[in-house]
Amino acid sequence: MNSLPEGLDKVLCEYIDQPILLVDGTTTEVISCNKAASDFFKTTTELSGVFWPGILNLLPMPADIDLKHLWLTKEGGDQQTETRRIENLDFIDRLDSSEKYLEIQLIKPADHTKTWAIIIHDKTAVERFLQSRSDFVTMASHQLRTPLAGIKWSIDLFLNRYKAELSKEQLHTLSNAAESVERMNELIKALLQLSRIETGALRLKPRKVEVHQLLQDVVKAQSEQAKRRGIHLITSIHQSLPEVILDGTLIGYVFDNLISNAVKYSHDNSDVTIFLSKLQNLMLLQVTDSGIGIPLESQRMIFEKFYRDKNAMQMVPDGTGLGLHLCRIIAQRSGGDITFKSEEGKGTTFWFTIPIENAIK
Ligand code: ADP
Repeated sequence: MNSLPEGLDKVLCEYIDQPILLVDGTTTEVISCNKAASDFFKTTTELSGVFWPGILNLLPMPADIDLKHLWLTKEGGDQQTETRRIENLDFIDRLDSSEKYLEIQLIKPADHTKTWAIIIHDKTAVERFLQSRSDFVTMASHQLRTPLAGIKWSIDLFLNRYKAELSKEQLHTLSNAAESVERMNELIKALLQLSRIETGALRLKPRKVEVHQLLQDVVKAQSEQAKRRGIHLITSIHQSLPEVILDGTLIGYVFDNLISNAVKYSHDNSDVTIFLSKLQNLMLLQVTDSGIGIPLESQRMIFEKFYRDKNAMQMVPDGTGLGLHLCRIIAQRSGGDITFKSEEGKGTTFWFTIPIENAIK
């Protein structure tokens, strides 16, 4: 890559409103910084010559905060190539007791003794916004639950008590209403789950779980919907699957999502194959359908929050686009993984793995 014309790098640094420090890789002294850095440290005195990461003590941080993870070279780090490392620094501001969130990029030159670039990103405002958005979603979701339960109760009552007296059309309308309420319930559950995950309030509760039973329960819950569309759920469970220690509710959520997606995006009168087994120290769930598949251009997006492929939206207009996003977070938090292979118009296979022992971090 061509280097910038002489002097332009300095100009650019000045105009970037993120604090940037240039640090000597041998002495760890600050060589220079931009105006945003002086403003950030709220100092008019010269920052050159101050040591990294000790310079951070100019911020109103608690005195005992550990800065070791911000040292220039981490033990065992690659010394040969230019790399970029991102670290976080969260602390309570001594002056106003508010929480502060910094993201610090350390850009290491190929020769680590040369000049390092350190870019500080104050994420406090973003984090506060996310927190308040999450609080709002949680509050709104909780508020919606009660009236929704009331609507569901009334519809069920009507369907049960007056079924014989209702015309076919009335029955159809009420069943549609019941399904819409159910979908809204699902959306609320997913939103609450998401906000718990995003705020870090989701705690995994590992317990001894019989995974084959867990899977059978999930399959049973899906079988009605599948049967209505002539979809055959073929389940095969590895005999020697041990009892595992994991969060049954969350793992059940993953099972349920993968299987219900396979049913949802399958064509009528087709097969969905579910295979639960042990693979070395992993538990593996494999779900295969021969449905609409995922177009290549959508494949890198499907774990993104609220993402839905256009074919999926056409086939199933209602959907949250949250299921797979949550599944991936649950898998990662449990030390596992979710992968898939798909071909548009041919079908999809998802694989979900989770370590059998020490399943939950
Ligand atoms: P939702 O199913 O509510 O849209 P998900 O997060 O579960 O949300 O899935 C995200 C998207 O991934 C879906 O909208 C769909 O485009 C795609 N997808 C997931 N599973 C399958 C599948 N088995 N077959 C085809 N597309 C799928």
